[in-house]
Amino acid sequence: MKYIKYQTKDNKVFVGILEDETIYRLNYESIIDAIKDEEDIKKYYLNNFKDCLDDVKVLTPVDPSKIVCVGLNYNDHANELSMNIPSEPLLFLKPSTSVIAHEENIIYPKDTKKLDFEAELGLVVLSEINNKNNEDVFDIAYTIINDVTARDLQEKDGQWTRSKSFDTFCPIGPVVATGINPSNLRICSKVNNEIKQDSNTGYMIFSPKELIHYISSIMTLKEGDLIATGTPPGIDHLEHGDKIEIIVEKIGILRNIVK
Ligand code: MG
Repeated sequence: MKYIKYQTKDNKVFVGILEDETIYRLNYESIIDAIKDEEDIKKYYLNNFKDCLDDVKVLTPVDPSKIVCVGLNYNDHANELSMNIPSEPLLFLKPSTSVIAHEENIIYPKDTKKLDFEAELGLVVLSEINNKNNEDVFDIAYTIINDVTARDLQEKDGQWTRSKSFDTFCPIGPVVATGINPSNLRICSKVNNEIKQDSNTGYMIFSPKELIHYISSIMTLKEGDLIATGTPPGIDHLEHGDKIEIIVEKIGILRNIVK
């Protein structure tokens, strides 16, 4: 199921289930609380009040305390860069202040001359995970993340904090999806309707499960935290006014404009 958080024209905020263009309102304040009651919700949501997607403003689906990102996690991307396959995941963080919603603007900072997009499958942590509960089944759902990057600053600084952390550098959403298999999803990006990246999550070097095991052995993952699982080949630059869309099969389209 696809969960969406949104604001109506009279400025009220709701969580709902999205099916095509129809949103079925739910009586929950957070998507994660709703997902925890999914079995009950399935029984009644079709009778609920309906909104139309075209009439609402989509909000960020979760409020992460951190976004843990993985560098170089696609076989085909490593081949493109002639880089060796890493033996363990390369991690970095984006701050929660970089998060924006579907249809909000990515601000092109004055400090960079090379602004790139990166299409990524996002994992949404539904309940706390740490190395003390070393289980094999994790409570996660899925979203889309654009890991926006100031490529010239990444190269110049040698480490990635500045290049990955500007305000608006982490578009997420538009929905959180449950009940999908993350190991076989088409993942694409388009700039002004031209396809740039077109791959499949099956080419990941470290699977979502392996990433969660690895990351939670280092830091506690809190409810609502996000993991950006890396990007496939074909990353490219963005210019002022560009429309960037990240498409992940069974989740949707995350669309933003560069200002
Ligand atoms: Mg990335």
